[in-house]
Amino acid sequence: MKKDTRKYGISSKRGRQPTNLDPFKPEEALKEPSLCTTCKTVYQQQRWSLDQEEYRKLENDPKTNWITCPACQKIAAGYPEGIVTLSGSYLWKHEEEIQQILKNEEHKALEKNPFERVIRKIRDDDKLVIETTDKKLAEHLGRVLHKAHRGKLDISWAGDPDLCRVSWERML
Ligand SMILES: [Zn+2]
Repeated sequence: MKKDTRKYGISSKRGRQPTNLDPFKPEEALKEPSLCTTCKTVYQQQRWSLDQEEYRKLENDPKTNWITCPACQKIAAGYPEGIVTLSGSYLWKHEEEIQQILKNEEHKALEKNPFERVIRKIRDDDKLVIETTDKKLAEHLGRVLHKAHRGKLDISWAGDPDLCRVSWERML
């Protein structure tokens, strides 16, 4: 039997096959408590947190269930829900400031929701591409940048309902 890999197959150039399936949504209720071996998120009382005090408490508890959390699965599979593309010569002249904004927002998002993460930032020619695990985070990064540095912002949900593409450009 051929394994269906389309859900995972991502080409940043052509986009993904539209799908409403999120392969990383756990189908069954997770056992509690659960700890992510990769990022140390804690799952208990039906919520996720990055409470490191809790993590240390549960780490040696024999009842603890060890898992790879949905965000880490997405990251491992290279499965972004948001792609933010920054471009224009202004970007590279103000790179440090812009990187700082991105870092701050990334940090704030993570505190609010442990599954809103930046997967990676890649320099692609004269563009900076930021992949996120979450659509709203991509939109948010675009809006914050636009507010602070103006430029041209475009947010597109077209094509694939599971992917938000954000582009921001400023030339001068
Ligand atoms: Zn994790």
